[in-house]
Amino acid sequence: MNARSATPAAKRPSRKGTQSADVLPKIRSLGALAEAEEECTRCPLYRFATQVVPGEGKSRARIMLVGEQPGDKEDIAGRPFVGPAGRLLDDAIVAAGLERKELFITNAVKHFKFEQRGKRRLHKKPNPYEIERCRIWLDIERLLVRPQIIVAMGATAIRSVTGRAMTIAKLRGRLHPLADGAQMIATIHPSYLLRIRQDPDWPAQQKLFVRDLKLARR
Ligand code: SF4
Repeated sequence: MNARSATPAAKRPSRKGTQSADVLPKIRSLGALAEAEEECTRCPLYRFATQVVPGEGKSRARIMLVGEQPGDKEDIAGRPFVGPAGRLLDDAIVAAGLERKELFITNAVKHFKFEQRGKRRLHKKPNPYEIERCRIWLDIERLLVRPQIIVAMGATAIRSVTGRAMTIAKLRGRLHPLADGAQMIATIHPSYLLRIRQDPDWPAQQKLFVRDLKLARR
């Protein structure tokens, strides 16, 4: 069996359009989920990261934000979106009239993937196999939290939420119904705003990101 055929994709979709029906009976709380994630060896990323970074926030949040994967700071803190991209996200949340404590914030991939360059650890994009292997944890978060709106921030999050590779440009600005009854809003990952901070287009891109979060609030 090759690596790709070992993914749970072959078993999908289950009744709710997720891949977690067999695991869920054993995981009935976010605390139990975090413990299970800590033991995860479903892909090689656990070997190199400091720790797993579970989702956090309101246990019955109406809105769930999904990013790509923890960054360097998140890997050390064990919490999602606490680094520079997290600060940009916090600002946008406030600008959209939302409160972080009312949301559930998580990532598609729960361990930090990086390339070591001297003392620095440079972010590396998770590959489709890693996204698919980690998807089970996002599915269980969705089943436990039951958000009405899922904001998928970036292509990796879109792939994990929908199970399909789609571009942000095609999906942006509208609600997309999901199999479990929630609706998805696709937007950029806040790290994109970090990368273009010196760019003249930054204010327009920031405004669009806030607009997407406002759509989630409405
Ligand atoms: S990245 Fe996800 S699938 Fe891979 S080991 Fe970590 S928790 Fe498990």
